[in-house]
Amino acid sequence: MNLLLLGAPGAGKGTLAQNLVGGFGLAHISTGDLLRAAVKNGTELGVQAKGYMEAGELVPDQLVIDLVKERLSEDDTKPGFMLDGFPRNTVQAVTLDSELSELGRELDFAVLLEVPEETIIRRLSARRTCRDCGYTGKDTDAVCPVCGGEMYQRDDDKPETIKNRLEIYEKSTSPLVEYYRGQGILKVVDADRDVAAVYEDAKKALDL
Ligand code: AMP
Repeated sequence: MNLLLLGAPGAGKGTLAQNLVGGFGLAHISTGDLLRAAVKNGTELGVQAKGYMEAGELVPDQLVIDLVKERLSEDDTKPGFMLDGFPRNTVQAVTLDSELSELGRELDFAVLLEVPEETIIRRLSARRTCRDCGYTGKDTDAVCPVCGGEMYQRDDDKPETIKNRLEIYEKSTSPLVEYYRGQGILKVVDADRDVAAVYEDAKKALDL
């Protein structure tokens, strides 16, 4: 099964992906995680992406598209993949469709995680991320529960950047809801609930 997750920053895409990927053998393709790894490793891509990410801006399309294309060519994506954080705008969505059709593959579902803005702001302010494995947790996690690594607050989860990211989501990413509804593959999940309830609903919506 090939899926993508849609939703504002803080809607719970990373957390749902962590659960679904483990349970159903899907390759998790998080462009945010891939870009953060590139920044951490100081690769050319990382150097190009860093400033945009710190400001909460979208990284230029071509950089992210190349990254996703490369990842989709890897064998672990063949049985099924879950895109998380990509596409973020219509150019990326259209490019993804044509890339998948060239590969003889297609998207089965786009899952929209719906949450009100107050919840998003509360969640992002409390969110902490593992510096080593990228696990998404909360400010109550002293160390990463998966690998024991250091938990830190992403620069783009600080209040001044959150506002910008939400505006970009509204303007550039939210039109994709209608794009995928039009393709008949949109599933909407109420994500203003605890992790377990969202996971159960998502599984139901996907017939898993
Ligand atoms: P995320 O972890 O998905 O919230 O992504 C963190 C940051 O990485 C975003 O604020 C963007 O700067 C960048 N990013 C991630 N995915 C994309 C994408 N599909 N297009 C452009 N920039 C992206």
